[in-house]
Amino acid sequence: MIIMKKKTQKIDCKVIEKKIQQYLDNELSPYEMQVFLDHVKECPDCKEELTIRYMISEGLTKAEENNEYDLLHGLEEKMKTSYKKIRNYDIGVFLVSFMILATLGFVVLAIIFAIL
Ligand SMILES: [Zn+2]
Repeated sequence: MIIMKKKTQKIDCKVIEKKIQQYLDNELSPYEMQVFLDHVKECPDCKEELTIRYMISEGLTKAEENNEYDLLHGLEEKMKTSYKKIRNYDIGVFLVSFMILATLGFVVLAIIFAIL
């Protein structure tokens, strides 16, 4: 059982690792971002990999203020912003689905009333 779990996680890690650069470049869809962040939160290996890559990419662009605390703080902020984006996206999807359902409901009611 433990072995199986480890194996599954390894496959996930490979997938997640490939997405690190896309995440840093803001190229993931909200769904991919959710999967990515959920995994990183639970997986110290991937978190470390993300931190390192983040520090490299940000360290290069912010060479002047290159201090470790700021960089780590920056990553935390980036992840928080990502979660906000996912939440906003979820709310958007919910509202659109709700409006479609409401419209459909109205049309169905209209048809029923027309028949009666
Ligand atoms: Zn992992």
